[in-house]
Amino acid sequence: MNNILKNAELTNSLSHNEIKNLLNVSTFDKDIFNLADKLRHEHVGDGIYLRGLIEFSNICKCNCKYCGLRAENINLERYKLSVEEILKAVKLAKQYNFKTIVLQSGESRSYKHEELIKIIKEIKSLDIALTLSIGEKSFEEYSDYKKAGADRYLLRIETTDELLYKNMHPDMSFKNRVECLYNLKKLGYEVGTGSLIGLPEQTVNSIADDILFFKELSADMVGIGPFIPNEDTPLKNSVTGDFNLALKVMAITRILLPDINIPATTAMETLVENGRIIALKSGANVVMPNVSEFECCKNYKIYPKQFSNVNNQEYLNNLKEKFEEIGRFVDVDKGVSRHFLNK
Ligand code: SAH
Ligand code: SF4
Repeated sequence: MNNILKNAELTNSLSHNEIKNLLNVSTFDKDIFNLADKLRHEHVGDGIYLRGLIEFSNICKCNCKYCGLRAENINLERYKLSVEEILKAVKLAKQYNFKTIVLQSGESRSYKHEELIKIIKEIKSLDIALTLSIGEKSFEEYSDYKKAGADRYLLRIETTDELLYKNMHPDMSFKNRVECLYNLKKLGYEVGTGSLIGLPEQTVNSIADDILFFKELSADMVGIGPFIPNEDTPLKNSVTGDFNLALKVMAITRILLPDINIPATTAMETLVENGRIIALKSGANVVMPNVSEFECCKNYKIYPKQFSNVNNQEYLNNLKEKFEEIGRFVDVDKGVSRHFLNK
C-alpha cells in the first residue's frame, strides 16, 4: 500500500490533491477498496442494515436534467400513494422485519403538510426508524417532520461544482441545497448526502471537492451513484457514469468517514451485475430494497431499472445468502449511524 493510504488509515484524512491523484490513476484501486473494507469492518462491523424503500410518489416540480421524474417529462405516468397505501406498505415491511423505512418521492406539494405529519406519526407509532428523502423544504417543515418523529433525512448535494449544479438544475439553487443540509443537521437529524458520478462535464477536481464536502458537513450517511442516462431526459445521449470511479469515490469516503453508513446503491446494482456485492466488499454496509407493493410504483423511473419487489421471502432469503457468501449478515438493529452516535 502506498504511503498516502497508510497515512490516511491513521488520520482519516486526505488532501484535495491526494484524492484527485487517487481518482486519476488505477494503480492503487485494489488498495483503496481493501482499506475501505478494513475500516468498514473495524468501525461499523460485518452487519448489513436493510432499509425498506417506499417510493411513494413520482410527482416532481423540479427539472433536474438527469432524472426521469423531472416535471417536463410528459412520457411518465404520474402516481401518488394514498396515506393508507403508504401505511400498508410500511406494515408489510415491518412483517418482513425491516427496522427502518425510507420514504422517497419527487419534490412536490401533492401531499398536504398535515398529511405528511400524519404519515410520519403513524409510522413512528410502529416503532420503526424513519428516513425521509423528499427534497428541499423550509426550516419549519423540516422541524415539524422532526418533531413528528422523523429520524433521518437523505438529500444528495449531487455535485459541489456550482456551475455544473446550475446547469443540471436550472430552477434550483446550490446555496439553498447546502443550507437545507445544514438546517437538517441543526435540527438533529441523521443526515445523508451524496453525489452522482459521471455527469456530463463533471471533473475529477470537483469530485474530490464532493468528498471533502461530505467530510466538512460531517455527514452521517453518504450514497454515491453512477449517473445512468434516461431516454426521457435531456441527457439521454450522455455517456453512462463509470462504475469503478463511483466505487472509488464511495471507498475514499469510507476512508475519510470510517463510522458512517454507506449504502450499496441501486444504481450500482443496475449498472453492473453483482454491483451491490462489490460495493459491500469495498466499504458499503447498507442495502435498500424496494418494498412498495403497488403496480403504480413501477413508474418511479428515475433511470431505466429492473423493478425489484421484495414482497416475497424468496428475494430476501436470496439476499441473505449472498451476504453470507461474503462473510456478512443482516443486522436486525435499527442501525443508527455510528458517526451520529459518536459525535
Ligand atoms: N426528489 C428527491 C429524492 C428522489 S431522487 C431528491 O432529489 O432529493 C433520488 C436520487 O436519484 C437523486 O438524489 C439523484 O442522485 C438520483 N438520480 C436521479 N436521476 C438519476 C440518474 N439518471 N442516474 C442515477 N441516479 C439518479
Ligand atoms: Fe425531482 Fe429528485 Fe428527480 Fe430532481 S432528482 S427531478 S428533485 S425526483
